[in-house]
Amino acid sequence: MYFVSTRGGERVTGARAIVKGLSDNGGLFVPENFPAVSREELEAMLGMSYPERAAKVLYKYLDDYDEKGLLDACEAAYKKFEGNDPCPLVKISEGMYILELFHGPTCAFKDMALTVLPYLLRKGCDICGVKEEILVLVATSGDTGKAALEGFKDADGVKIMVFYPDDGVSSMQKLQMCTQEGNNVNVVAVKGNFDDCQTAVKNIFNSAEYAKILKDKNVLLSSANSINFGRLAPQIAYYFSAYLDLVSSDQIKMGDEIDFCVPTGNFGNILAAYYAKRMGLPVRRLHCASNMNNVLTDFLSKGEYDVHREFYKTTSPSMDILVSSNLERLLFEVSGRDAKVTAERMKELKEQGVYRITPKEQADINAVFDGGFADEDDVVETIYDLFCDTGYTMDTHTGCAMKVANDWKYKNKKDTTEMVVVSTASPYKFPQDVLYAVTGNDVRDSFKGIKRLHAATAMAVPKSLSTLRDKPVRFKTTVHKEKMFDEVLKFVEGKN
Ligand SMILES: *Cc1c(COP(=O)(O)O)cnc(C)c1O
Repeated sequence: MYFVSTRGGERVTGARAIVKGLSDNGGLFVPENFPAVSREELEAMLGMSYPERAAKVLYKYLDDYDEKGLLDACEAAYKKFEGNDPCPLVKISEGMYILELFHGPTCAFKDMALTVLPYLLRKGCDICGVKEEILVLVATSGDTGKAALEGFKDADGVKIMVFYPDDGVSSMQKLQMCTQEGNNVNVVAVKGNFDDCQTAVKNIFNSAEYAKILKDKNVLLSSANSINFGRLAPQIAYYFSAYLDLVSSDQIKMGDEIDFCVPTGNFGNILAAYYAKRMGLPVRRLHCASNMNNVLTDFLSKGEYDVHREFYKTTSPSMDILVSSNLERLLFEVSGRDAKVTAERMKELKEQGVYRITPKEQADINAVFDGGFADEDDVVETIYDLFCDTGYTMDTHTGCAMKVANDWKYKNKKDTTEMVVVSTASPYKFPQDVLYAVTGNDVRDSFKGIKRLHAATAMAVPKSLSTLRDKPVRFKTTVHKEKMFDEVLKFVEGKN
């Protein structure tokens, strides 16, 4: 299987796509076609464990890796999760399910891919004969950073550096990152919001000058953000697995179509669901849930992407994003895989902050996707209501998705299609906000929040969060975005 750039020009193997992260002209790598999963293959996957299912899906795209190696990597990755199922499906009412993707080492869905990515990258370097040291650069809205640090810590031949927006992550997320252990890690706060941070990191990737400076130091940049296909591929697997779990538990029959509702920021998670559909998984609709930063809701209803709007800091910080990188991959598909058109739109987005798609393209997107959003009150109400009705506690991001799923069900009362709401974080990752939603109580301190939330819900506290309090803070640097590359150099030269 080969991969091409959404902006044209390049055609590379899976290993090369993962090692590079981003194509030379700034485009994203996409598979040359969508590998099909037949009905027989789906049937065969029913009896498999999660790592086996995941390896099957990965190998469909990454056939330059060996299947056994992928399986071993998946076994090792998902062993790090708490409990015996890395992504349990919980039924909350008739036709409504929650897919819990937060049982990994950092309690957010990013672990589903970032526990596997280090293997894909290291092995990819071997396959491509890369000799340089790899420096993984990450821009994070909170959860990717920690999951990447945890995944790559002490990995051979790799260093990892994470930039996060100074004022744009929760206190728990910040503490998780700044206490990170490992000899090859670095964490730096950047003044500004996530979009500033992500744009600055992309600019470092796109700079020939920086690449040359690093090459002279025997360093090659790679990315652990969801622009890297190595992030996307492992995410496709859990959509298959959730579907198979519904079949195994007799909730649906093989072949029945289902819906997914996904809390969305950079459009990576929901794009993986779209890829699963294109591979033949019986998926009907994908509901794209946003918070008050509802640029995607507007895009899906108007066919115009416009970042000229107020940026809100919400209680679902991992979705506080105005420029959703992975949308470029969907645009590429609906333009009929037209790299020229895709490149033009991305240029318009960069220069004018706005682009339009054609009515035909919009209709094609709306045949699968619809969007909705939750404001801050909606999130509180939705978390509270589900807790009262069922005793189930969800986090603020999942709360946004549940609101959108409920709205859909309300507007389509006769629709009996099973709805799977994707849950992306443990409620304990945002303890004060969830505590407030569930009990109306406000506490300042995250750990007091955890304690009280536990008292109110009796839900088990993940070990990785309860032990955080006692860890020393290792990283305290804050920089302006113009100074980010200086920090990269200092890190490469071992000067910090
Ligand atoms: C990253 C993240 C999201 C958004 O996922 P995308 O793939 O960026 O759309 C939603 N919820 C949580 C908790 C996250 O960490």
